[in-house]
Amino acid sequence: MRRKRHDPKKEMDLAPFGIKAKIPVVDDDEAESCDFVVCAPKGPSPFKDNFTGNCCICGIEIMYRWHAPRRPKKICIECAAKQVGKEKLKEQK
Ligand SMILES: [Zn+2]
Repeated sequence: MRRKRHDPKKEMDLAPFGIKAKIPVVDDDEAESCDFVVCAPKGPSPFKDNFTGNCCICGIEIMYRWHAPRRPKKICIECAAKQVGKEKLKEQK
């Protein structure tokens, strides 16, 4: 998996979702060239114009904003946390 070095300050803490992981936050240009778009599971949302889809790994229904990058695969937040975990393991070897 391609992964660039990110400013460690620009990270989103997944602790509020009950997941011990942090994911990098990037700007729009970088977002279009990334591997995945992390999406919330489909459910109540303050936005009425969300797009819906399926996680590319586990297949659960997810929702994302209409302005989310189109090219990268959509992934749910739980699978994203697992991917981050795998990347961390690779870095330690
Ligand atoms: Zn998933």
